[in-house]
Amino acid sequence: MKLLFELSVPTVAIHGSDQRFPVNRVYCVGRNYAAHAKEMGADPDREAPFFFSKPANAVMFNGRDIPYPSRTADLHHEVELVVALNKGGSRLSLDEARSAVFGYATGIDFTRRDLQAEAKDKGRPWDTAKGFDYSAPVSAITPISKTGTITAGSISLSVNGKPKQQGDISDLIWNVEEVIAELSTYYELQAGDLIFTGTPAGVGAVVVGDTIEAQIDGLQPLQLTLSAPV
Ligand code: MN
Repeated sequence: MKLLFELSVPTVAIHGSDQRFPVNRVYCVGRNYAAHAKEMGADPDREAPFFFSKPANAVMFNGRDIPYPSRTADLHHEVELVVALNKGGSRLSLDEARSAVFGYATGIDFTRRDLQAEAKDKGRPWDTAKGFDYSAPVSAITPISKTGTITAGSISLSVNGKPKQQGDISDLIWNVEEVIAELSTYYELQAGDLIFTGTPAGVGAVVVGDTIEAQIDGLQPLQLTLSAPV
């Protein structure tokens, strides 16, 4: 097969390996920590999780800085546990969901909060609020063989050294296996899919020049600086 032009697959580093993880699709869960659901004005009852997605290449960045995005004056950080799948399937059981996990990473679901508020208000899609360039930076992936299944542990984010978000993975309303199983009723999941599992409370705006550090117990941290818009 001859392609009209070359197109590279987005990839993420794997901690302790010289192999890289090829990214197929990026799915995200909305409102999966009660305290964050409350701060966004929603009822944190255990209703079925809802999903949105980002382009696979939203994970790409140089490992140091990302440009402040266009068309927003209210860019928010959302630190999230990211799950990387190396198996797929439809209507997975919880056991099958667990065995589809290759590993975990620390990620940030960057959000143009002003555009999201407008989209919610007008009943429009979230794509421009959530699925923009550089909107899904992730750390190197730590294989589950090194961590075991993650069910608890601190998840936090600081801006210029000041703590902003703090939570615990055990506070997830829907845990990792439940999220994967539910998502697999909407899509036939595939190897290379990444899932952002939701953010704890404390989301807020960041500006050009801010340095953001995201950390999850036992995983690689993610540190980046917001540079001037392109
Ligand atoms: Mn999020």
